[in-house]
Amino acid sequence: MNVHLTFDIEVWCDGWDALDATFPASFERYVYAKSAHGSYALPMTLEILERHGLTGVFFVEPLFAARFGLEYLRTVVQLIRVAGHSVQLHLHPEWVDEIRPALIANNATKRQHLTYYTVQEQTALIAYGRSLLEQAGSGSISVFRAGSFAANRGTFEALRCNGILIDSSLNSCYSVSGADIRDQHALNAPFTIHGVRTYPVTVFSDGFGRSRPAHVGACSFLEMRDAMRTAAQSGASDFVVVSHNFEMLKPGGVQPSRIVVRRFQQLCAYLALHRDELPVTGFEASTEPLPSVMGLPVKTASAMVRSTLRRHVEQLLCRIG
Ligand SMILES: [Zn+2]
Repeated sequence: MNVHLTFDIEVWCDGWDALDATFPASFERYVYAKSAHGSYALPMTLEILERHGLTGVFFVEPLFAARFGLEYLRTVVQLIRVAGHSVQLHLHPEWVDEIRPALIANNATKRQHLTYYTVQEQTALIAYGRSLLEQAGSGSISVFRAGSFAANRGTFEALRCNGILIDSSLNSCYSVSGADIRDQHALNAPFTIHGVRTYPVTVFSDGFGRSRPAHVGACSFLEMRDAMRTAAQSGASDFVVVSHNFEMLKPGGVQPSRIVVRRFQQLCAYLALHRDELPVTGFEASTEPLPSVMGLPVKTASAMVRSTLRRHVEQLLCRIG
């Protein structure tokens, strides 16, 4: 079973009212997050991966750079590329109405999700995002993930128009994700749609039977380990893990969350130890044909009760301090 370690890399200004005033500090936090403990945003993410000899897929959000300048995007792309990882396209259209000159004619209001845009608009935005990344030195873009996992059928048509034929936008834990294709696809295994190979984010059944996405910040390490083991045992071909540039930070600041740091380190150590059964790869590594019709809605991955209880203990510790 191939494991895909994916990272969504984005910069936010915590509100839209004073973008230009808040951007410099936001960029510092989201990209570096320097503290007395180290820089637990991108630098430490890259360092931990390197320590364990693992390669990630970094979905970088480029639209913020259309507002603030390409040099910021270049900094982000270079950090990732120098460390030997793949840079791919992530798109948050929340930025569209903040950019001048206008990228598309209809930009009078803020529309958060890509699914709120027509196929033609999605096609134009994806093309623009890709060109920003490529100008920033990303190399050729071949894989896409929609912001907030908000993709619909039109997104796949738009990707095909742009010649981007691999995607990892779908996440069944988010109602906005693939809402208009769920009657035809179970979103629990890779499939082909409009000629695009899509690898949904892995969702597993936690120790109490609730669906949980394989997000580093949302699962105990033991849940992630159980989910990978059970997915592999049930014959799953791919396991998609999600993290972010700010995943290891405490909310709102630059201090690391010791619990999430430990989860990520344990996950990387586990994957390094089991690299034969659980190779960490990019999406291009999988080339076998994928079904285009609906698979059976099977639950392939699950965690044990004590692994989920461990998460509850961790969450409690987080709240205490
Ligand atoms: Zn995002």
